[in-house]
Amino acid sequence: RVFALLALDLQRFKQLNDSLGHEVADQLLQKIARRLVNALPEADTIARLSGDEFAVLFNAYGNLSSLARVATRLASKLRLPVTIDGHELVVSASMGISLLPDSAREISALVSQSNMAMQHAKHLGGNNFQFYTDSLQASTLERLQLENQLRKAIEEKQLKVFYQPKLCLATGKLNAAEALVRWDHPTMGRVPPGDFIGLAEETGLIGPIGEFVLRQACWQACEWQRQGLDAIRVSVNLSVHQLRQGKLVSLVRQVLEETGLEPGYLELELTESQLLDSVEHIIATFQQLRDLGVKLAIDDFGTGYSSLSYLKRIPVDYVKIDQAFIRGLGEGTEDAAITRAIIAMAHGLSLKVVAEGVEHQEQLEFLKAERCDEVQGYLISRPVEAQVLAVLLRENGVD
Ligand code: C2E
Ligand code: MG
Ligand code: MG
Repeated sequence: RVFALLALDLQRFKQLNDSLGHEVADQLLQKIARRLVNALPEADTIARLSGDEFAVLFNAYGNLSSLARVATRLASKLRLPVTIDGHELVVSASMGISLLPDSAREISALVSQSNMAMQHAKHLGGNNFQFYTDSLQASTLERLQLENQLRKAIEEKQLKVFYQPKLCLATGKLNAAEALVRWDHPTMGRVPPGDFIGLAEETGLIGPIGEFVLRQACWQACEWQRQGLDAIRVSVNLSVHQLRQGKLVSLVRQVLEETGLEPGYLELELTESQLLDSVEHIIATFQQLRDLGVKLAIDDFGTGYSSLSYLKRIPVDYVKIDQAFIRGLGEGTEDAAITRAIIAMAHGLSLKVVAEGVEHQEQLEFLKAERCDEVQGYLISRPVEAQVLAVLLRENGVD
């Protein structure tokens, strides 16, 4: 017979467990188990292996594409919000699939290969499924090497911070900049953050990396002022892992003191998709940061499945519309409608709106007409080194 094994792991279950308590998390597991059973009539066996890991054995499947269809359907069913004890939770899963006839001869190999594929799905950001392939084995090794190199990168100062300016539409001046980390690897060259931030988050290396970027950006903001430039806001991206460690507020306070940057010139950005876990904890931390006088932003807004009611509850100052909507502005009316709606909603809540990924003049015109507050994108400038940004600020900075 032909067997396929699907390994499934819930995203962020540990955090849910920590923040909402075991009782809520247990109920969540039960609901997910029930969803699995209902969503998979074609499964032979559905089992919970441990914690938040489930496995599904299929003993008769048509072909790869029918398995892919099953996994897609399962993913969309799992992602529907679950309400437990008044908490609305959105969970998604990473899934890995291995097949007995093509890839393994033994059951133990089937299990480990489905796990490897599941890990791969997780590395790709979760909420997807992957099939096991022989090359996965090799890339798992590569990943281990990359992790060791990233550790060294921090010690050996291979990380740099670039800055991308934001343009204030009301004044036509550059009034802020986002700090974006870059890794100059000795042999691989420049590694983009998309290729290592995920790894850094998983391994905890995001702690020291985030601290480095924060310190560097605050120091740089003061340095520009020392060079005689008018003060601008610098924004630094946060990872939810930094929030979880519970040391963020004291770190921010310490860095502000050390560098002498006025708190109102520091902005912290958190991606909308990272708001999903432990909302209460995020609200509490944001409130403390706000009390310091720091500005806060929700990044990549509109794609993270977060509930709109979060916007009301989480204390933030800025909403950054995700690039995906801005990219589509020229093409369809849908992205224009969404962008318009986000701006109106944010303004209704007294929040400022920043549009990201502005590449064309028409997009800028649209955003101006819709009263977007700030724009950021290649049309204004790519992320550049600090001294290049100083030149741009001299030409067109705030007065
Ligand atoms: P993000 O915070 O949403 O940053 C915006 C990304 O869009 C940056 O990519 C930027 O270079 C890119 N971008 C800006 N304008 C345009 C445009 O007009 N067109 C296009 N196609 N892209 C544009 P980058 O620098 O590769 O960073 C990617 C992501 O990595 C960031 O997304 C952020 O989530 C993360 N990241 C970067 N630096 C840090 C950091 O220091 N800490 C943390 N936790 N995450 C970081
Ligand atoms: Mg950002
Ligand atoms: Mg963004």
